[in-house]
Amino acid sequence: MPDITLTHVTKNYVSHGQPAVDDLNLTIANGEFMCLLGPSGCGKTTTLRMIAGLEHLSDGEIRIGDRVVDSLGSGTFVPPEQRRLGLVFQSYALWPHMTVERNIDFGLRLRKLPETERRAKVNDVMEKLRIRDYAKRYPAQLSGGQQQRVALARMLAVSPEILLLDEPLSNLDATLRLEMRAELRRLHDEFGTTIVFVTHDQWEAMTLATTIAVMSGGRLQQVGAPDDIYSRPVNRFVAEFIGNPPINMIELGGNPSRGGLASRLFSDRPISGATAVGIRPEEITLTSRVDAVPLGAFRLESIMPTGGSWIMEFSLGAERLFHATHLRPTAKPGDMVECFAMPEGLHLFDAEGRRIEA
Ligand code: ATP
Repeated sequence: MPDITLTHVTKNYVSHGQPAVDDLNLTIANGEFMCLLGPSGCGKTTTLRMIAGLEHLSDGEIRIGDRVVDSLGSGTFVPPEQRRLGLVFQSYALWPHMTVERNIDFGLRLRKLPETERRAKVNDVMEKLRIRDYAKRYPAQLSGGQQQRVALARMLAVSPEILLLDEPLSNLDATLRLEMRAELRRLHDEFGTTIVFVTHDQWEAMTLATTIAVMSGGRLQQVGAPDDIYSRPVNRFVAEFIGNPPINMIELGGNPSRGGLASRLFSDRPISGATAVGIRPEEITLTSRVDAVPLGAFRLESIMPTGGSWIMEFSLGAERLFHATHLRPTAKPGDMVECFAMPEGLHLFDAEGRRIEA
């Protein structure tokens, strides 16, 4: 199966103003489960639509394998139906007058496959997506999650080399979303299909993707494995966008109360140019370890139980600090508590917001 390669891809919807997608360079490797992740309006859907052929590029080139499918330079444009892609968008339009199995069979009929082969394929995907029991029902007789699975089944029946999904789980309740995520992961592992999945939900991206591409303002910020993005964010945007509760970002410059922390950080390591330090809530500790970095005494403002773990919110003047822990808190709101950072959990950023490697 082919890789998808985006080279200097740009999309302007209006002649002046910020591009919706700005000089995007990205390779989606064969067999990858790539999540395009970013806040609303960052250009995720536009990127997916350009891969699908539903939008023309304003600049750059897209290849699927060796085949150029859209290039401004050469004037090539391969229409969507010739790109051998499967698309599932937020609203998963099924044919209302066709039963589930007829819906799934539809694409196979168009391809004029022999009936025995079609029947085998329809049965196979219904089995895999666990919708066999609904074969004779009409879409209106199905729940949202069941319809979602039929939409996916219809897509998989025609064995697309690449599956493009735009927030396909957004209409489902929490339990069903979880189930569908597991299902998508299983499908990916079983079929080996390349999947490009658009979401603004970082939890969804972290749990599903083999690779995440984080976007902001039409620009690619970072591409990497979920763990990489979380533990080695390349800039403040990625550090602050990923993580819930969010990373604690302590400004070092212009913050006199942080002079101690800054001198401690810089006396330990030969680092220059750091203006902020990010510490993930689970990388805060309340117990003094030999190597822990003292952050000062903070007032405990609140404790939020999240079921098996707790989020503790501290304050020191205007500064807020979140700590996430699996240990049942012993302190009470109003108590003053010494907080420390684990040394391996310090993310340093320069004045431009770029990560500084310690
Ligand atoms: P969301 O998560 O809200 O769907 P997104 O990251 O998918 O957002 P896009 O839908 O790709 O973002 O939109 C990127 C930018 O392009 C936005 O500023 C949006 O307003 C603009 N945009 C999208 N489609 C069009 C259009 N057809 N005409 C003009 N502007 C558009």
